[in-house]
This record gives sequence, structure tokens and C-alpha cells, in this order.
Amino acid sequence: SREEISYFGAGPAPLPTPVIEQSAEALVNFENTGLGLSEISHRSPTANKVLADAKSALSTLYDIPLEGDDAYEILFMQGGGTGEFSASVQACVGWWVERRRRRAVAELGEGKDAEVVERVRKEIKEELKLDYLVTGSWSLKASQEAARLIGSNYVNVAVDARKSNNGKFGVIPAESEWNLSDSKKSAMSYWCDNETVDGVEFPKFPDCLKGRTEDDGVVVADMSSNFVSRKINVRDYGMIFGGAQKNLGIAGITVIIVRKSLLALTPAPTFLQQLSDVLPSAIPPVVFDFATIAKNNSLYNTLPIFNLYVATLVLQSLVSTFAEKVGGQEELANRKASLIYEALDQYSDTYHVVPDKSIRSRMNICFRIKPKADSNAEPGKWDEAREKEFLASAEKKNLMGLKGHRSVGGMRASNYNAVSLTSAEKLVAHLVEFAATS
Ligand code: PMP
Repeated sequence: SREEISYFGAGPAPLPTPVIEQSAEALVNFENTGLGLSEISHRSPTANKVLADAKSALSTLYDIPLEGDDAYEILFMQGGGTGEFSASVQACVGWWVERRRRRAVAELGEGKDAEVVERVRKEIKEELKLDYLVTGSWSLKASQEAARLIGSNYVNVAVDARKSNNGKFGVIPAESEWNLSDSKKSAMSYWCDNETVDGVEFPKFPDCLKGRTEDDGVVVADMSSNFVSRKINVRDYGMIFGGAQKNLGIAGITVIIVRKSLLALTPAPTFLQQLSDVLPSAIPPVVFDFATIAKNNSLYNTLPIFNLYVATLVLQSLVSTFAEKVGGQEELANRKASLIYEALDQYSDTYHVVPDKSIRSRMNICFRIKPKADSNAEPGKWDEAREKEFLASAEKKNLMGLKGHRSVGGMRASNYNAVSLTSAEKLVAHLVEFAATS
């Protein structure tokens, strides 16, 4: 049964059993209507209520202002985190171009269309930069997508964490070493808040990106794998995104939290078309155009309402379990992660935690197994045979999904919100027993 299995998969990942049970029922016969939730129109009142409930629970958890000068839009889309690697680039470049267009019109006067285009073209060539903090595989992928879409000349890798760590991810260099562009020239400053593959999590919001205004580059964070797992100040960000399939629900839904005032800066495609020689792919496909999606309350095209429903139930259960705010979930996540890291540290003759201590992820705990002290293995190598043994003996105890990502190997215990304290304790017991007996 589900209760017997402890699942530490990195995504798709476990969800609370009551959510899965209620969703299963909704798939067949939603609230006794005789129809399943995947069979009804995404424009029906039922679907609209699911959407409204999702927004309400998320705005409660993260304290997101939905009205007023500092209002944010909550959008639900498809395309996953990867879709947002592209959409974030096109959106931020568009907002940057529109800011420059408006400035040029203000300075040159109305009716000077050709001169305005010329001026913006020149500024794009001389100034436009997208800043990426590359601290793991997913921010690397995002930066590569930016280079593929708009050209590597516009991409500034402000940090490549591998350079400070023998070619491997596992550290975040101090902010004083980041090579960010001038914030007025930058269209975005991007990072992945939790690197799922490498087990690296930003301990806090970067000080040097605090207080950015509408005139500065947009602060963008990928929170796919630590969404709703700790308190954040949404107002620090221009845009946050995440695929649902870790902490939020099942694959097929992506959530975007974006500052409303940015959407008003979406440029006319006809203006961007005139700049296609210097910005070849700056116009997003319409399904990735945030302004269009916002105008249509995330229902511009068919939204997978069942997938959204699963996320809604997850969010509502967080709201009711943790007295409405995400801080309660944060405490639980920290407690589970501490238990696991303490065991790994305690048996450091056996285990090696991959990332540096200061930036260890609370969500993806990546570790390796050392050769035994009496083996004549090469120093610095991991004992892959022992790692296989670890995984096999874990599976015998129903501790599943502990294998590391194929690109890095080793072990990864994903400690998402739905992993119970009991599951974390069972893993700790296995870590202790393996170290003592293997
Ligand atoms: N960002 C992060 C942090 C991820 O962990 C993942 C996927 N695991 C992605 C982006 C890509 O998401 P998707 O597979 O939904 O495109």
C-alpha cells in the first residue's frame, strides 16, 4: 500500500494520499455530477472555481498581493519549467525593449517611428544583457536556451559555479564575485532557487538584487523544486515560476507569479518584427505570452483543469494544515532535511554530501558513498558497488527513488513537502544501519 512505501523520487514526486484519493474520485465522478473533471469544459463555472480556489490558496500561502500598485498575476500554463526557460527570456527582452521604445518616443517625440526603431536597435546591440547565475544543471539549461533564442552575445553568465569548484556544481560563490551587468542595461537577473540535480539551494534572496525597481532588469527565479517550501517575499521578484510535479501536483501545469505592471510593458509584435535582424526570436508563441494569458485568466486555450485541481488540493491542504502560511511547511521541511544531513555527517566515514554545507538543498539531498577505509581504492573516488548495495538494501525496506540523476550518479533523497517525517526517519535509520554494517 502507499503507506508502506517511502518514495524519494525527484519529480514526479509523491503527493499527499488524501489529495490523490480525492483526485482519483474527481477524475471519475466530480462532486457527484456524473462527469469526471477532465471531461468538462475549461470554461465552465466548475473549472473557474478550481482556478479561483488555486489562486486564493497560493496567494494566502505566499502572501501575494493581487490588487493595488504592487499587484501580481498568478498564471497557470503548460510547457513545464522548460517552457518557462524560453518564455521568461522573451518576456523580459520584450519588457526591456518596450521600456527603451517609450524612452525614445519621449525624447524624440511622436511620429518619429523610424528614428525610434533605429535608436532602440542601437541600444539593443550596445546594452542589452540577460544575467544568469549558473549554479547547477537547470540554470545552465536556462542560460543555454536564452543563448539559443536570442543569441549568446546577449547572455551574461554572471556566475558559473563550476569555475570555483573544479568544474563541478556544488558551491555558490560569494555575491562579491558575481559579475552582474549594470541593472539598467540588464533585462533580467535569473537563478534557479533550488537545483534539483545538484542539491544546491540558495540559502536566501540575494542581497545585491534587493530593491530592484521597474527601471531595472527583472528578477526571475525558477522555483520548480522548492515551490511552497519556505517563506519568500514575493515583492522582491519580478517573476517566479515552477513546474507542478514536485511540491505542487502532477506534471502538466506550470505556475507563474508575475508583477502585473510588467505585463503592461508587453511590446507590440509589429515593433519587435522591425528589430528581427538584431533580435531574431523575441516574439513569444501566443500560448507563452503572459499578457495574453493574464487577460484571459489563464483560459486563453484549454487549461488541464484536472491537473490544476490536484495542485489546488495540495495548496488548500497546506493552507489548512499550517495555519494559512508557508512558514509551517518550511519548519517541517527543515526538520526532515536536518535529520537526514545529521545522519550523513555523523557517518562521514561512509557518506559524502556533494554540495558545500552552506548551500545544501533542503529538497534534494545529494550524497555519495566512500570506499571502505581498508580498500585500496583511488583516493577521491566513490564506491559505486557500495552505492548499488545501498540502493538495493534501501529498496528491500521500501525506501524507493533514491538513485541520483543519471548525469551525476550517486544518491539523491528528495525531501519534498509530501515526504512524511516518518519516511525521513526511516531513511535515517537505513543510513545508520548501512554505515554500521556494510
Ligand atoms: N527547473 C527545475 C529546477 C527542475 O527541477 C526541472 C525538472 N525537474 C525543470 C526546471 C524542468 O521542468 P520540466 O520538466 O517541467 O520542463
